Amino acid sequence: MANRLSENGKNTVLILEAGGKDNNFFIHMPSGYSQIVPTKSNLNYGFETEPESTTNNRKLYWPRGRGWGGSSSINAMIYIRGHAHDYDLWRQMGNSGWSYDDVLPYFKKAESFNGEGDKDFHGYDGPLHVKKSERKDDELLDVFVGQNIERQGKQRSHSFCGGD
Ligand SMILES: Cc1cc2nc3c(=O)[nH]c(=O)nc-3n(C[C@H](O)[C@H](O)[C@H](O)COP(=O)(O)OP(=O)(O)OC[C@H]3O[C@@H](n4cnc5c(N)ncnc54)[C@H](O)[C@@H]3O)c2cc1C
Repeated sequence: MANRLSENGKNTVLILEAGGKDNNFFIHMPSGYSQIVPTKSNLNYGFETEPESTTNNRKLYWPRGRGWGGSSSINAMIYIRGHAHDYDLWRQMGNSGWSYDDVLPYFKKAESFNGEGDKDFHGYDGPLHVKKSERKDDELLDVFVGQNIERQGKQRSHSFCGGD
């Protein structure tokens, strides 16, 4: 966001950040989040939720990033947009400019999709590089997803960032 606002060279953006610079090795190593997320540290607030009746009054561990990039610096790097229906609901609630048709051009503008994606939904020259996962070894996940699709009578989607 700060980059977009200042890329014309005329605007400057002041960023106030409680944490430090994002120069920890594990922030830049794709699976390094597994080293940062499990425990509270100077990179992770490591919050706990309040006990909730809906979780049998348990407190849940709630990691959050502290430093440049915030939680994006410690997250799992799965590229996922909100569902089209949710944006349309926001618009219906009176928030003009937030329907799925309104936000889709900005998702596309941000994205640089590496692969054969549907051009209606993907962007190809934005700053955020995205590609399809090449993992094919999760048989349990395949069964779980497959059975739910079948049960609900839906079609398998080729991208969870598509319109459906
Ligand atoms: C472990 C984990 C895995 C995740 N995996 C994914 C994923 O795979 N895909 C996905 O899409 N999303 C994922 N997310 C969620 C995603 O990272 C967050 O939704 C997103 O980063 C939130 O952005 P934000 O700007 O709202 O807040 P944050 O990114 O949390 O940024 C808030 C920033 O504000 C700073 N700050 C807070 N208080 C102050 C203060 N008083 N003064 C100055 N600075 C302050 C914090 O230090 C922090 O840097 C994950 C999140 C976590 C924690």
